[in-house]
Amino acid sequence: MDLAYPPEAEEFRGVIRDWLSENLPDGWGQPGFSMTPEERTTFNQEWTAKLFAGGWICASWPTEYGGKGLSLLEQVVLNEEFARASAPLRADFFGDTLVGPTLLRWGTEEQKQRFIPGILKGEIAWCQGFSEPDAGSDLAGLKTKAELDGDEWMVNGQKVWTTQARYADYIFLLARTDPEAPKHAGISYLLVPMKQAGVEVRPIEQVDGSAEFNEVFFTNVRCPKDNVIGGVNNGWKVAMTTLGFERGTSSTTGYRRFLKEFNQILSLAHERGRTGDPLIRQRLAQSWAKIKIMEINGFRTLTDVLAGTHTTAALSACNKMFWSEAHQETMLLAMDILGLDSQILLGNGDQESLLPGGRRARARNYPVNDLQALFFFSRSETIWGGTAEIQRNIVGERILGLPKEPKPG
Ligand SMILES: Cc1cc2nc3c(=O)[nH]c(=O)nc-3n(C[C@H](O)[C@H](O)[C@H](O)COP(=O)(O)OP(=O)(O)OC[C@H]3O[C@@H](n4cnc5c(N)ncnc54)[C@H](O)[C@@H]3O)c2cc1C
Repeated sequence: MDLAYPPEAEEFRGVIRDWLSENLPDGWGQPGFSMTPEERTTFNQEWTAKLFAGGWICASWPTEYGGKGLSLLEQVVLNEEFARASAPLRADFFGDTLVGPTLLRWGTEEQKQRFIPGILKGEIAWCQGFSEPDAGSDLAGLKTKAELDGDEWMVNGQKVWTTQARYADYIFLLARTDPEAPKHAGISYLLVPMKQAGVEVRPIEQVDGSAEFNEVFFTNVRCPKDNVIGGVNNGWKVAMTTLGFERGTSSTTGYRRFLKEFNQILSLAHERGRTGDPLIRQRLAQSWAKIKIMEINGFRTLTDVLAGTHTTAALSACNKMFWSEAHQETMLLAMDILGLDSQILLGNGDQESLLPGGRRARARNYPVNDLQALFFFSRSETIWGGTAEIQRNIVGERILGLPKEPKPG
């Protein structure tokens, strides 16, 4: 197998490396580099502006909407170099990776002109309004409804687990627009403004005091008639593309963050004298091997997309199931290496995170350290973006050709 990229892709890699070394703060990524929370806030603002000026946010989007029109391979190289330097590469997760690509695929010209520039500049904060109390894996069971009232949709219902809803300007929301139609038909994909009367966001506080996600209640909430993406009652198809983006991104870079964490866990095992324990050694070797498998599977996915063989949805299901479960095992191993210490608060609320994602699941009043925070957050990784069981159903039905699971009733 030849894993070398073509010379033009390597040339482009040089351009990105130069840009990163000119623009990242001195000492970035070196041992001992740190920022105060205030410095981090300023850095985040300035960095987003620099990314935008460089054209690197959503750089594969077409030039007419402000992207750079990069080829798939150039985008992959861009992602790889940013991941190698641990440099952030996005304005807003939901805008860049979910609603933006959905708009490009399904939006009208007017919708693209209206929303895409704001997404690229990171000016619009988004949240995803799919899940409801009785509609998660069985998403088509959703009950939130939208009815036309003159030139506006009137939305009533409830969403749950809505990440970032407190800060969002818009929610991309699935609502039932034809209650008479069969379950998967009669759903529309709406872009609903969040800052208005009738939208009530109730944070869901977790055990550590943080409240990353929320319940969102809609009472006679207004949404312009033209904010339907992909046509009225066609929302199921549109939503499936959004979920495809959620599962298919960063195929060759995802493993890097796990490798970085693994190296920290390995150092910890050395520091604590645990590398002589045969069971710990075995689990370390298993974790490392699984990260290698992720790296190779990333190349498989990339090859599949480049060759247009279109098994990406099935490969993505395998990848999501694999990385989320492997990550949980690795974080459990980290806690076992910490031993009884893992049960006390090892962090400092003001401390900067050294690992990507290390601040997640860590509130100021519950100062766990990076590894503990990652352990907690890893518990959610087999749930969001489609549970591990649902990924197995996809693999069973679409790859292995097993009979579809019986429907209740
Ligand atoms: C950290 C986090 C962030 C999230 N952010 C958002 C967000 O921003 N917006 C949003 O809309 N949603 C969000 N979610 C919700 C997420 O999409 C749902 O939790 C997920 O789809 C599962 O739905 P559920 O929680 O209703 O569980 P259920 O669907 O009720 O599942 C319960 C259990 O039953 C299993 N199960 C269900 N159906 C089957 C089946 N057919 N075959 C086998 N097993 C099955 C599941 O695998 C699971 O173990 C988030 C979730 C988490 C954890």
